[in-house]
Amino acid sequence: MTAKCPNYEKCPIYNGVLQGKTLTAKAYVQFFCAADAYPTCKRYMVKEATGVCPPNILPNSVLSVDEIIAEYNLKRN
Ligand code: SF4
Repeated sequence: MTAKCPNYEKCPIYNGVLQGKTLTAKAYVQFFCAADAYPTCKRYMVKEATGVCPPNILPNSVLSVDEIIAEYNLKRN
C-alpha cells in the first residue's frame, strides 16, 4: 500500500500509541494515510496548522483542531 500523506514516513503514531496494535494501525492507514482522505486526518490538520502534532492524537480524534491546539498549548503557523 502506498502512503499518500506526505507525513507518513515521519508520523510518530505507528511507533508510538499504535505500536503493537496492528489491526487498528492498518485500518487508519487504509482510511487516512494511504487514501485521498488523508487531509481529513486530525494529525495532518494539526500539523498543517501548527507545524507539529502531539504524538498521541489519533487520525479520527473527536477533538477539533482548535480544541487540540488549545489543549496542548500549540501555536498556529
Ligand atoms: S496518521 Fe495522519 S498525519 Fe500521520 S501519516 Fe497518517 S494521514 Fe498522515
